[in-house]
Amino acid sequence: MEERIVSVLKHRVGKNEHAAKPHDWYNAAVYTLRDQVIDAWIESTTRTHEAKGKRVYYLSLEFLIGRLLRDAMSNLDLTGEMTAALAAHGLDLAAIEELEPDAALGNGGLGRLAACFMESLATLDIPAYGYGIRYVNGMFRQRIDEGWQVELPETWLAHGNPWEFDRPESAYEVGFGGEVVSEGDTVTWNPAEVIEANAVDTPVVGWRGKRVNTLRLWTANAIDPIRLDAFNAGDHIGALSAQMRADSLVRVLYPADSSPAGQELRLRQEFFFSSASIQDIVRRHAQYHGDVRTLPEKAAIQLNDTHPSVAVAELMRLLTDEHGLAFVEAWDITRRTVSYTNHTLLPEALESWPQPLFERLLPRHMQIVYAINGLVLKEAREAGLSPESIAAISLIDEHGERRVRMANLAFAGSHSVNGVAALHTELMKETVFKDLHALYPGRINNKTNGVTPRRWLQQCNPRLTGLIRETIGDGFLDDAEKLEALNAHAGDAALGERIDAVKRANKVDLAKHIKDLMGITVNPDAMFDVQVKRIHEYKRQLLNLIETVALYDEMRSHPERDWVPRVKIFGGKAASSYHNAKLIIKLANDIARRVNGDPSVGDLLKVVFVPNYNVSQAERIIPAADLSEQISTAGMEASGTGNMKFALNGALTIGTLDGANIEILERVGDDNMFIFGLTAEEVAARRENGYDPRAIIEGSRELCQAVHSIASGVFSPDDPGRFAGLMDGLLDSDWFMLAADFDSYAAAQRAVDERWRNRAAWRTSAIRNIANVGWFSSDRTIAEYARDIWNVT
Ligand SMILES: *Cc1c(COP(=O)(O)O)cnc(C)c1O
Repeated sequence: MEERIVSVLKHRVGKNEHAAKPHDWYNAAVYTLRDQVIDAWIESTTRTHEAKGKRVYYLSLEFLIGRLLRDAMSNLDLTGEMTAALAAHGLDLAAIEELEPDAALGNGGLGRLAACFMESLATLDIPAYGYGIRYVNGMFRQRIDEGWQVELPETWLAHGNPWEFDRPESAYEVGFGGEVVSEGDTVTWNPAEVIEANAVDTPVVGWRGKRVNTLRLWTANAIDPIRLDAFNAGDHIGALSAQMRADSLVRVLYPADSSPAGQELRLRQEFFFSSASIQDIVRRHAQYHGDVRTLPEKAAIQLNDTHPSVAVAELMRLLTDEHGLAFVEAWDITRRTVSYTNHTLLPEALESWPQPLFERLLPRHMQIVYAINGLVLKEAREAGLSPESIAAISLIDEHGERRVRMANLAFAGSHSVNGVAALHTELMKETVFKDLHALYPGRINNKTNGVTPRRWLQQCNPRLTGLIRETIGDGFLDDAEKLEALNAHAGDAALGERIDAVKRANKVDLAKHIKDLMGITVNPDAMFDVQVKRIHEYKRQLLNLIETVALYDEMRSHPERDWVPRVKIFGGKAASSYHNAKLIIKLANDIARRVNGDPSVGDLLKVVFVPNYNVSQAERIIPAADLSEQISTAGMEASGTGNMKFALNGALTIGTLDGANIEILERVGDDNMFIFGLTAEEVAARRENGYDPRAIIEGSRELCQAVHSIASGVFSPDDPGRFAGLMDGLLDSDWFMLAADFDSYAAAQRAVDERWRNRAAWRTSAIRNIANVGWFSSDRTIAEYARDIWNVT
């Protein structure tokens, strides 16, 4: 390995070992590793080709992959060799790893799920392609200035990207606008604008290098990158405008988490990547298998949320206009090939596009959507559904301004529609998809999310992995459910102490990181109480902050009590247009400034807001967490995957009966988890029957005091009214029911303190968590998709 790295450094990076800077070594390390990846990649592709096997295509506007060096090295079992090879040149592998930028091509859970799925697909030896966009800037980088979020472009490609391979031969034309001409049976779309999609491939290595799959991200280019006539006539900028227009398509990921950005550019992005991907899939099928009629036997296309649902119409267009199939036959093929995953029930987050915009941008697809709608509504009428149901099923929303409903299109065009946790799937049937479910019963099914245990245990927590290995052997590395063997050791005091020592070492590392990053000193012996995830009102960071203020008040009023020292750690990005979420970030930082500077609480309470939460930050923070905050309003978090990562690393969860928390509870037991608050059913009933947050707040001394101190500017003396509006929102409407859940949340926190004081009991609970969440491996999730939806082995 050492010889190879030096040779690569010389011949591919163009430096010798004396001139090489750390970045050159990083590149040399990646190129060296990559050579081994390529061998396995080509072998995997050849194998699939020869077996004429079925392939899975995962279409997602987001892939939150993070760094790849450690992932590839670890999955190929080359970490030891690499460490030694670099050490021979006085280099520390960990420092080299830090030079890799995070590929932050996603917002949060949905994008990270896509990345975990890619890794599990390769691990389970399933031939698969991920399809998405190669954003030049991706998700914004978050800086905190005076407590406020500032959004900066993420320049992750500034030093090039040694993981990617340009595939200029895989190029497709993607059209926009123009007109549709019908002559007899032939329909021709003449787009006004055509952009070229070019493939850029990244290899995805499965565990033990069993298979290497492809993440294919599209970049955009003008057909004529420069108009020479205009350039020579002196219009140097205008001559390049087509290329700039193409560039703008792949510039940034819209920083919206669960509400559509609404911009025309977003719809253009969605169509751009869907069209290029569908063209690529159909081209590959035609090349290997000939007849497009066999597509459902050879291809399974999964839509990750509705962002790629225009792919349904694009596949219909290719099958009918380009391959000459009859509409009804094409519809049958499309439905048997496509399936859709729903990620949210929030009505404001269900994508729909103004019909005039859709028609202007995609005139042929508009016609196809109308034709599909004709078939679907005919089925609905024949099924005897009511006019209200039929209106709800329609792909076109006729209330007010006409809009195209992307979720209905995805639902109608799929043979399977899945939710991402058991509760979420049941709620899909009762709420957003009630009528479509009545028309197509059996189409909705559940696939509870998972996370890859390679990244989220092995790679991010080598200390814990080593200890588990010593205790139960290494079978869990290949089958996470074998972690169950730890149950036999749950009461083992010696193991409990070693688990504690591992956790403490991880906390020391995180404390150092916090010190370096923010200058805040935290005590690794305090409880690390962590809430890191996108900032959103439904996730209720505000509930946690108000409880923090209440705790702070109590600590000052009763210094004589035996308080459990806590470090409250927050992190997460707010969508740039989401005012309240940004205010919540500011509140966290204002509370931190006040609490951390108050000598009367000292080490008993510290508040930290870690800037720029991303995959690499998560990999540091999660192994160091004692308590995991999963406190969304019940019924609003589809699944959550952060909850799974924390439990797998031995944190105890405080949470509501929401999303996958419910299934975690079923496995770890209520002795080992702190459940509080209203159920989803109770939330719905309260909303129905009138909810009076003001009365609740006034009736709860701690809550009332905390809300009023925040509202009156105790934490924002420089601008006393800063949070008055936010607190008025709670008093007046409190849509997310913080007030209703506050007292039971506070009581659960005191139960957490109680458990913490009993060290043996805490350690047993930590072991029970690790032992019983192996089921939440994305290997299990992917095996279920393969069996129930894709029909691949
Ligand atoms: C896992 C993960 C998420 C999802 O967290 P939730 O708590 O499920 O919302 C978001 N961002 C990053 C970087 C993650 O790793």
